[in-house]
Parts: sequence; C-alpha cells; structure tokens
Amino acid sequence: MNRILPTSTAGSLPKPSWLAEPEKLWSPWKLKGDELAVGKHDALRLALDDQRQAGIDIVGDGEQTRQHFVTTFIEHLSGVDFEKRETVRIRNRYDASVPTVVGAVARPKPVFVDDATYLRAQTSQPIKWTLPGPMTMIDTLYDAHYRSREKLAWEFATILNQEAKALEAAGVDVIQFDEPAFNVFFEEANDWGIATLERAIEGLTCETAVHICYGYGIKANTDWKKTLGSEWRQYEETFPNLQKSKIDIISLECHRSRVPLDLIELIRGKKVMVGAIDVASDAIETPEEVADTLRKALQFVDADKLYPSTNCGMAPLSRQVARGKLNALGAGADIVRRELEG
Ligand SMILES: [Zn+2]
Repeated sequence: MNRILPTSTAGSLPKPSWLAEPEKLWSPWKLKGDELAVGKHDALRLALDDQRQAGIDIVGDGEQTRQHFVTTFIEHLSGVDFEKRETVRIRNRYDASVPTVVGAVARPKPVFVDDATYLRAQTSQPIKWTLPGPMTMIDTLYDAHYRSREKLAWEFATILNQEAKALEAAGVDVIQFDEPAFNVFFEEANDWGIATLERAIEGLTCETAVHICYGYGIKANTDWKKTLGSEWRQYEETFPNLQKSKIDIISLECHRSRVPLDLIELIRGKKVMVGAIDVASDAIETPEEVADTLRKALQFVDADKLYPSTNCGMAPLSRQVARGKLNALGAGADIVRRELEG
C-alpha cells in the first residue's frame, strides 16, 4: 500500500432498497434474471463510490452480489442440497434452518471471479475480496455425508484455495477469509481450524487476511455479547497460533467493544486490521473517536502494520448510517496519519 494506515471495511455494505429489502440479513432479491445481474453490478458501483468518496484506500464490492457472506458461496458448490434443510445452532448462539451436505463437495465453476473482474475494471485502487473461512462454512450446514466437522473443513479449504487462486489471477490484492467461528470454537480452531485456513491460502502471492469478529449487529449477537462479561478475551485463545501462521493480516473488533487492546500484542509482527467502527449501533462515530481507537491500538501494533477498518460488515445498517460511518473511518484515519507524519 502506498500510504500508511490504509483504510478498508470488513466487507459488506447495505444494499440499495431497489435491489433487496434494506436493514435485513438474507434479504431476498427484488429483481430477477438479467435485471438482477445488472442491478447487482450497479449496486457494486454505488458501494465502490461510497468508499471512494469516504477516502477508503483498499476498496471492496460491499458484498452487493451476495445474499449472505457464507450461504451464497455454498450455493455455488455441488454436494449441498438447499431443499433438504435441518435446524442447527449457529456458533452456539442461534438456531437457523440450513442446507444439508449430501455428497462430496466440489466447486464446479468459479463463484465470485466474474464479480471480482468487474470490480477490478472499475478502479485502480487496491481491492480486497472476502470469502467465508472453512470453519465458519461448516458451522452453517448440516453434514449428512462426511459426518466430521474436520473432514468437511479440509474439503472446503481445498475449494476455497481454488477460488482464491482464481480471484488472485483476476487482480485481487487482498483475499480475506471470514472466521467468526474462531471466536467460539477455540479448541477446534487450534487443532485444525487455523491449519485449514492455511490450506485455503496455499500458493497465493497476494496478501491474505482473516477476519475474526463478534458478528453483525443483530439481536442474537448483541444478546450473546451481554453474556461475555466485562472483558472479552476470546482472541487470546487463537492469537498465539495465528501469530505463527502464514496469514498476513488479522482483522479484529476493537471499537466500543470490551476487547482488551493489549491482546493485539499476541500477534506482534502481523498486519492488523483494527475495527474502529461499531457496526452494532446506528450512532455515527466522530472522526476523533475513530482516531482515539487507532491511537490506542498503536501501542500494540507498529504504524506500518495498522490497517484501520470496521468491526464487522455493515450490511444490516441503513445506507445513510453506513455512509456516515465510512466517512468517519476515512477522516479518523486521516487525523492519525497527519499526527504520525508530523
Ligand atoms: Zn465480522
């Protein structure tokens, strides 16, 4: 990146109301067929423009072409039956009706490569693309075939690696894997979760990131957070092994959270995407509030490795609030950048 404190978002941004019902996860599309295909790309350009206007450095598609960060990827795979649904508990937190793994999983064709190529053609700025991580994928399915969370995670890692290599070839600069499951299943993450993630990035030359958060600002997540006590020390469980892993960037939730920022010390040497925007509240941060979080993080991460970001995706927020938060992120990073450059 050509300047210090390069800003980016964790991934998703709200969709325009003509494309999907706003302020809702898994919101159904309002368009069909060719109109939907064109609409998704139009929305991608608007999301890109919002980022550009806010001065965001590493831009993304705002996940405008997918209904959900995990399920849309899985919909493109074979071996999963979306008609056959079972209710499972997602990250030990809330019940959801999920599709069933009925046979060997495979990726018959690229999933997001056309969308990434489209984004690449719209901008000369560095671009980041998000994919679900293997462990978070298995947690969103009922497995009637492998009957082993680990086995299925390794299969998904191989598939993700195929997709990541194709995204890199399409000109993606940073590939991010979303692994909120790392904040819940520590033992599995340390036993094989981080290893499957390394399998997913095998052979890549672009930068790689893992995003580990406390989830979207939906009720199931905010209720869960209330049970976590005065200090959220979940990162402490996986950071030592992530520090030793081949992942380049670690994306974490900091702003208005109860994460003790000194835990960042555990990943010293890694680039850190510091969440300086709260996605669980409509209150728009002031640039000074963002700057304050970044200054605090600077005690534990070197300035050349600090990447200001959002705590999580902003898909469930209103567009107006998300735009305000993007602007605050850009302006807050600017304040600290000026201080550092003296
Ligand atoms: Zn997140």
